[in-house]
Amino acid sequence: MATSYDVIVIGGGPAGYHAAIRAAQLGLNTAIIEKWLNEAGEPAYGGTCLNVGCIPSKALLEASHKFVEARDHFDEIGIKIGSIKADVPAMIRKKEEVVGNLTKGVAGLLKSNGVTTYEGKARLGAGREVTFTAHDGKIEDLTAEHVIIATGSVPVEIPPCPLTDDLIVDSTGALAFTSVPQKLGVIGAGIIGLELGSVWSRLGSEVVLLEALEDFLPPADQQIAKEAAKQFKKQGMDVRLGARVTGTEIKGKKVTVSYTDAEGEKTEVFDKIIVAVGRRPYTEELLSGDSGVTLDERGFIYVNDYCLTDAPGVYAVGDVVRGPMLAHKGMEEGVMVAERIAGHQPVVNYDLVPSVIYTHPEIAWVGQTEQALKSAGEKYEVGSFPMAASGRAMASNDTAGLFKVIADSETDRVLGIHIIGAHASEIIAEAVIAMEFGASAEDLGLTMFAHPTLSEGLHEAALSVSGHAIHVANRKKKK
Ligand code: FAD
Ligand code: AMP
Repeated sequence: MATSYDVIVIGGGPAGYHAAIRAAQLGLNTAIIEKWLNEAGEPAYGGTCLNVGCIPSKALLEASHKFVEARDHFDEIGIKIGSIKADVPAMIRKKEEVVGNLTKGVAGLLKSNGVTTYEGKARLGAGREVTFTAHDGKIEDLTAEHVIIATGSVPVEIPPCPLTDDLIVDSTGALAFTSVPQKLGVIGAGIIGLELGSVWSRLGSEVVLLEALEDFLPPADQQIAKEAAKQFKKQGMDVRLGARVTGTEIKGKKVTVSYTDAEGEKTEVFDKIIVAVGRRPYTEELLSGDSGVTLDERGFIYVNDYCLTDAPGVYAVGDVVRGPMLAHKGMEEGVMVAERIAGHQPVVNYDLVPSVIYTHPEIAWVGQTEQALKSAGEKYEVGSFPMAASGRAMASNDTAGLFKVIADSETDRVLGIHIIGAHASEIIAEAVIAMEFGASAEDLGLTMFAHPTLSEGLHEAALSVSGHAIHVANRKKKK
């Protein structure tokens, strides 16, 4: 007889483990099935995010940023350190230690919350029957009142760039280089391409990013994207827009990349290539023909606003469903679904999902961009404030970037907040909170911010919507 649960979660990434822990907290008899095996062949929780995504990339971004600070900027603030060297294998070991601690931490959280764990593959059949295949091949039949699918996503592979063991790699391979490639090509200048390109550029690679689109960072506010392009160029990253990669050829230890741009066909030789052209939803071997779960035309599991699939009692959350492929979006969906199963009525506010690019300067935004509002014909006011006018930024020797607040012309309600600058990933939380509470630019302007902080730049940008900023010459007439 099948073992029965109130809730079975398939996939133990951020979306899945949040769903499982919340469901267990709410008193539901919950199991989670996760098939990930780490490099050492051990089962690991945390999915893409903890194993090969958010966390390891941030560990390397942080280490490489500190290296550049020490190498290029310490003497500007009066610290003399002589010559320094990046120990890449040690950086990778540290990254792996962080990943190991966190993935074990998630296993511990699942256990302490009373979630039953199954390590191996799940397949969903009709009527919420789940076939579990353990890593040793043993098969077990499980069943549940509710199933939550959280099987995530995997990197997109494109025919011109077939992956190899060590020359043409995806984001996972790029997080494990043990030496610095002399010349590195990155295909795709999206968030992942820019972050990984930054890591290796800081450590000494000559980095060229080939991006098929003509626009740089189309989802970001274009004023911010322009500033980002300027900063990346200053750092030595060569971002080529309108450059579509059409082929790769390996000769010895080098890769020749062919691409087309406005001038025609070109080739360039690299020591390594990172393919960062996006991610696709992962549902391989997951659904039997009669599961009742359907996919949309792009391969995402089809769900409604509350993450319910077409099959009764089956939900799907995270990267495997529509919406931005971001860990925090999946986490909130996981919690929402667990709570709805327990009879509560939460919703996810998809209008206020913050986006962050952890380059330096960091780029973060929430809400609408100026270009989107303009093309929708909305009337809005913009306030902005340069990092260079922030006392704290000057004291930190880190003045690149700006704050931008966009508010409705009539109601003054904040419609979008865009930041490029140090610690933008932290400051954006203030913007999300303000917008969740329906703040006006005036509300933000009337709020007291500690001095001296970078956050004061957000305060000043909000004040500047009505021409009241203190530390810049206001272009607008004061009302
Ligand atoms: P995943 O994390 O992909 O987890 C899905 C899990 O399901 C996996 O562990 C998989 O093994 C398991 N699974 C799949 N099928 C089965 C099955 N049949 N049976 C059992 N288990 C199964 N997002 C951010 O928000 N911030 C960042 O800074 C960020 N940085 C990133 C950097 C990189 C290099 C990459 C690649 C991604 C990054 N992301 C970031 C994206 C983030 O990792 C994903 O949005 C997030 O992991 C999605 O969570 P998820 O739970 O939906 O899926
Ligand atoms: P993202 O979806 O944010 O991860 O970004 C992936 C980027 O890769 C997108 O901006 C795509 O335009 C880009 N891209 C996809 N295919 C190619 C290609 N063949 N050559 C260059 N860039 C590409």
